[in-house]
Amino acid sequence: MLGSEENIAAIRAALDIAPDNIPLRLHLAKLLQEHLRNDEAHQEFQTALRQLKSAIIQRPADADLYRLMADAQQALGDEAGAMSSFGISVALQPYVGHTGHTGHTGHTGHLRGDSPDTASSAEDPEAQNQLEKELGQLGPLERLAMGRDDSGDMEPQEELAERPKIKFADVGGMEEIKEQIRMSIVYPFQHPEMFAAYGRRAGGGLLLFGPPGCGKTYIARATAGEVGAAFIHVGISDVLDMWHGESERKLHAIFEAARRLRPTILFFDELEALGGNRLDMRQHFQRTLVNQFLSEMDGMEGDNSEILVIGATNSPWHVEPALRRPGRFEHIIFVPPPDQEARREILRLHLAGKPAAEDVEVPRLARDTEGFSGADLRSVVDAASDQALQDAMRSGKVVPFSTNLLLAALRKTRPSTLEWLSTARNYAIYSNEGGLYDEVAAYLKKRKLLG
Ligand code: ATP
Repeated sequence: MLGSEENIAAIRAALDIAPDNIPLRLHLAKLLQEHLRNDEAHQEFQTALRQLKSAIIQRPADADLYRLMADAQQALGDEAGAMSSFGISVALQPYVGHTGHTGHTGHTGHLRGDSPDTASSAEDPEAQNQLEKELGQLGPLERLAMGRDDSGDMEPQEELAERPKIKFADVGGMEEIKEQIRMSIVYPFQHPEMFAAYGRRAGGGLLLFGPPGCGKTYIARATAGEVGAAFIHVGISDVLDMWHGESERKLHAIFEAARRLRPTILFFDELEALGGNRLDMRQHFQRTLVNQFLSEMDGMEGDNSEILVIGATNSPWHVEPALRRPGRFEHIIFVPPPDQEARREILRLHLAGKPAAEDVEVPRLARDTEGFSGADLRSVVDAASDQALQDAMRSGKVVPFSTNLLLAALRKTRPSTLEWLSTARNYAIYSNEGGLYDEVAAYLKKRKLLG
């Protein structure tokens, strides 16, 4: 039998040959952790997490990927993320036909042995209560969606929605997108009579797609702030449920809450997981959820005026085409990585208020950050802040923000949009149905990433 050192070296050698073998990388990370090599373990868990995120872009309905992600997040101390990923993996299980996994050692492991679509347990309220208790993760939105709140009241509560404070001025760049949103929601909210005169009204649907971290959620939230609307952020774990028929019920309850709170921005994150392409789906369950989504969007289940539904996805190629018909997500907007000018603005916004930030050479940093997302830029500023704070604690003096501090943080950060762009490039070349990816192709050409 190999000793632990040799074992670790053998796994590293195997990973050199197959760097994308995520389970093997997680195995290595756990082994390193067992041997208290925590820094190395941390690094491997982070790499695995990054790889899992991009694998999920390709295979959004793969329960196993979410289960592995839960492991990595838990190891990295992100308990909330781990619970959410685990919940999604459980919810996806019946759809992909996995019902008896034993590989995972994390939370509520024994529950997976129960077949989620077993009628007897689905109807057994005690089993349901037990499940809720064990998952311990029913947030207010989920309670609302399930028609239960703390008081046992079935009415949705106003406080379940956010009232975002950020506005368009807090979003760097994205000028064309802001204008498109203004036309479809801001102006109609502000001048309903004018729009009525032209037979148009506020509401409808926008689908934002693009690489992760480039501001889709941020601008959706800012839209609500801009018009003083309620904002309901719906993640897939708020909807997907392992019990037959529950997901549809939750989705309906969420739309109903949006209708009661109108004007409302109803934001669906990772739309491909809820409104996935019906042709890709092997199971009836998922198709009924998409059908429910379509009928909610069509206003068959209630009046949708003054409700703007914004969907966001990193994988537009997996979204059900019927969702793109008029009256549903008719405006489809590509949210690209920020250009140099937008990066300058995003950096300025995130540096605002930091000590001596006005001396930082922002244009130089903006020039050196091609391919960085808004989230990458924020993490550079955060890393530099941590360093400045550490230096300040050591010296007992306020350490000003400097260009060098930021450049040092920059060197440790990899631009995260490149993987997405290389996947999108294939769709733009080989599968550009109805010109859906024209904007992506134009962007890639401009950046000389497409011949
Ligand atoms: P994902 O696809 O992974 O959900 P996303 O496109 O929704 O990503 P956001 O969550 O909106 O990305 O962005 C992450 C963070 O990055 C924001 O909370 C914000 O701090 C920062 N950010 C992104 N874009 C911008 C921007 N244009 N201006 C200012 N900050 C931004």
